[in-house]
Amino acid sequence: MECPVCGSESSTTLKSKKISSKSKDINELLLKCNSCNFVFRDTITEDKPSKFRLIISEHEKSIKTLIELYPDEKLETGNSLLSDIGQAEITSLETKQGKRVESAVAKDISTIWASSLEIPARVGISVDFSGKADSYKVDVERDFKFSVDDVVKINDSIFKIKSIKTLKRLTKKGFAKASVIKRVYGIPVNLNSYDYDLTNKIISKKLIKK
Ligand SMILES: [Zn+2]
Repeated sequence: MECPVCGSESSTTLKSKKISSKSKDINELLLKCNSCNFVFRDTITEDKPSKFRLIISEHEKSIKTLIELYPDEKLETGNSLLSDIGQAEITSLETKQGKRVESAVAKDISTIWASSLEIPARVGISVDFSGKADSYKVDVERDFKFSVDDVVKINDSIFKIKSIKTLKRLTKKGFAKASVIKRVYGIPVNLNSYDYDLTNKIISKKLIKK
């Protein structure tokens, strides 16, 4: 809001009147320059937020909702959104032409696809008994860390983690957070102590060993 007489950008609002149309908010202001006291008018026009279709997946199910965004807001996969059913991370954007893209401006988008950040991470666990594997799905906190060489109890097995498959790669060293892990691979070990027990985190199991 630059003063037309002296160019100062510091002013005091004496009056403001808001006029709303369907897509815009127009704010008419009466301003007084703080440097030379000149009184002048200005208007600020803002696009109003509008509602966009948002589909949030929670493991196997998905929930449809709407989210309010400014039409010129830029969205990108990996960004998180706060929806009426909680935080969700954008996984894909569908444009009005029906294309799936990684980034777009809200007004070009028909549907936002996201996955919920409010639910635990679901991780696969495979314990390899010489070629035959016990397979589990466990739900753990999203930031729970699995490290290669962790000794883990599950049911009556104790195993050591040998590798971790994340969304991007298979790793044989280091650690990863549950939120990016697809599967953890381990081999049974003959130990009585362990770092943690996943037995009460089991969602499903397929046991081959007997
Ligand atoms: Zn002025």
